[in-house]
Amino acid sequence: MISAPRACVIGWPVAHSRSPLIHNHWVRELGVTGSYELAAIEPDALPGFIHTMAGHGFVGGNVTIPHKEAVARLCGRLTKRARRLGSVNTLWFENDVLCGDSTDGEGFAAALDAEAHGWDRHRRQVVVLGAGGAARGIVDMLRERGFERILVANRTATRAMALCADLGGVAIGLDAIQEALAGTDLLVNTTPSGMVGSACDALAFDLSRMPSHAVVQDIVYVPLETPLLATAREAGLLTVNGLGMLLHQAVPGFQRWFGVRPRVTAALRALVEADIMRTHAGDGLPAR
Ligand code: NAP
Repeated sequence: MISAPRACVIGWPVAHSRSPLIHNHWVRELGVTGSYELAAIEPDALPGFIHTMAGHGFVGGNVTIPHKEAVARLCGRLTKRARRLGSVNTLWFENDVLCGDSTDGEGFAAALDAEAHGWDRHRRQVVVLGAGGAARGIVDMLRERGFERILVANRTATRAMALCADLGGVAIGLDAIQEALAGTDLLVNTTPSGMVGSACDALAFDLSRMPSHAVVQDIVYVPLETPLLATAREAGLLTVNGLGMLLHQAVPGFQRWFGVRPRVTAALRALVEADIMRTHAGDGLPAR
């Protein structure tokens, strides 16, 4: 008997993940046969889970914190991009070989393409705050999109230097950010600063000296408008929150597992926004 294709998101903890909401919405909307579930896998159990995934009926899945690098090492085949980044967030099987790709950068660019049309027309300089896994995917994509100067600022300076050595870009100190902003076309926050429950210090920059065409993106999506984005909006700049990236990074996986390319629609966005507002109702979330 052929069973319906199943996919999952592998993480620890993973209960907060909105991937099942997104993928099961597409399953219903597109009328495909299949399902998507949570796989809460402790680090010690990760290799065992990965090696028996196919046997348990999974056609693939997503990978989230803290497993992205460890799963990359367990894959039989990686895309060039995943090899460059040493990290995966999307898995599928080809002739029983587990394959992995990293689609965060693709999701990042697709969100900007959709919500800040022409965002890469001015690409002289970008400032990226943070140097973690998400920043790596984003810097890689910024290089692909032809940004001339990619400045990376991180609390741990050595991590920013390592990222720049691997992927290109120039590491700058936190004290150099403000001055750099005057000549910056795009500012991207990839740290948890501004996220509900984060212990990160607030990002307090004067954004009024950024060029009027500049775009500010925050990949945090809880809340939908972080203090950084509120400051950018007040300075008259175009802002993009992290929800679009979350939705767009999910598209390639769904297509691989279920054979149909899904669309990021207003209905899907509204569904996830409502879930965020409901889940964090007690956290004093602003309306946007
Ligand atoms: P990660 O690999 O753990 O990197 C975290 C980054 O944030 C590092 O640069 C880290 O700096 C910095 N950071 C953490 N705590 C800090 C603090 N208290 N003060 C200053 N900097 C701090 O995590 P990640 O996977 O890159 O994810 C980063 C954020 O992006 C998370 O909030 C995650 O939810 C979000 N995200 C969103 C999407 C989306 O689709 N919208 C996708 C992926 C991630 P150090 O190097 O100094 O520790």
